[in-house]
Amino acid sequence: MTILRNDWRRHEILEIMQQPLNDLLFTAHTIHRQFHNQNEIQISKLLSIKTGRCPEDCAYCPQSIRFSTGLDEKQLMAIADVVAEAKNAKSSGATRFCMGAAWRSPKNRDMPVLTEMVKQVKALEMETCMTLGMLDQDQAEEFASAGLDYYNHNLDTSPEHYRKIITTRTYEDRLETIKNVQEAKIKVCSGGILGLGEQTQDRASLLQHLANLDQHPESVPINQLIRVKGTPLQDNDDLDPIEFIRVIATARILMPKAVVRLSAGREQMSDEMQAMAFFAGANSMFYGDKLLTTNNPTENHDTELLEKLGIKAQSLNSPTTSIHRLEHTEDPYPELAIPSNTPVQYYTPRQAK
Ligand code: SF4
Repeated sequence: MTILRNDWRRHEILEIMQQPLNDLLFTAHTIHRQFHNQNEIQISKLLSIKTGRCPEDCAYCPQSIRFSTGLDEKQLMAIADVVAEAKNAKSSGATRFCMGAAWRSPKNRDMPVLTEMVKQVKALEMETCMTLGMLDQDQAEEFASAGLDYYNHNLDTSPEHYRKIITTRTYEDRLETIKNVQEAKIKVCSGGILGLGEQTQDRASLLQHLANLDQHPESVPINQLIRVKGTPLQDNDDLDPIEFIRVIATARILMPKAVVRLSAGREQMSDEMQAMAFFAGANSMFYGDKLLTTNNPTENHDTELLEKLGIKAQSLNSPTTSIHRLEHTEDPYPELAIPSNTPVQYYTPRQAK
């Protein structure tokens, strides 16, 4: 039996993450099967609805106005064009449509257009997600009223490493946006990026901050840095694939109900590495040749890979999806329910050895 915790200590997370790989994978996969269909994957499509000229200075990002990356900048897209892209995404098997804009935060004058986008994409019977920078409480409420399902706002890295990556907003600013989103009852998508020059301690700290939120994020994207020429991180060292898998598995153990997403950097991953990530607990990915402004594996390649692995795209009505849609109202896995007042067992670091 597994219970959800949000009081993780750093040393516990390090013990989990650094145990022998086979033990870590076994524990993570066991938990994964308890909470998710191990042969299903949730497919999202991400569209850049406003590209470039962002005033922030995230050191990994080609969209910052501070770096010369030769980006093709674009103003906010028209609603009809966004809806047409969402229809295409749906016909390719995506169940969630994510819309990203390169802003510090959305301007109030843009809110009517943005909320209308949400309404029209939802009318296609797709889940909606937006990532637009920081949101205040009023904006979060407006998006909730429009029916927005998810808001993405990554913590990116540990608070300790954060100041080497971003100086134009604080870690507390990020936590504040997540709080505003959760209070508006919008589901949170929040994760981080590996390969930013962080240490193992930083990876544990990032996961600790995600897992110790009052409520775990419903979606946890784990990105691998794409080293874009012209950004300050263009010459960063390669990330060890096994270290990446360790973070995926640890995220699965700490946040059992969350959908863990393989996000940016998949084009640089071998099929074998992605297969190991799915075994370790990743159960979501972005489909489509572009992720905002960087490349992603082709849809054909992804289709072949999923077929080889026997993994099916999740539909909106699958029980796994229902965990997130019906949270707090109905338990789709009653046989796994933990009766109140019953002693429960959790995979503590000691038991996992
Ligand atoms: S806020 Fe977003 S778009 Fe802007 S520089 Fe940072 S990551 Fe890039």
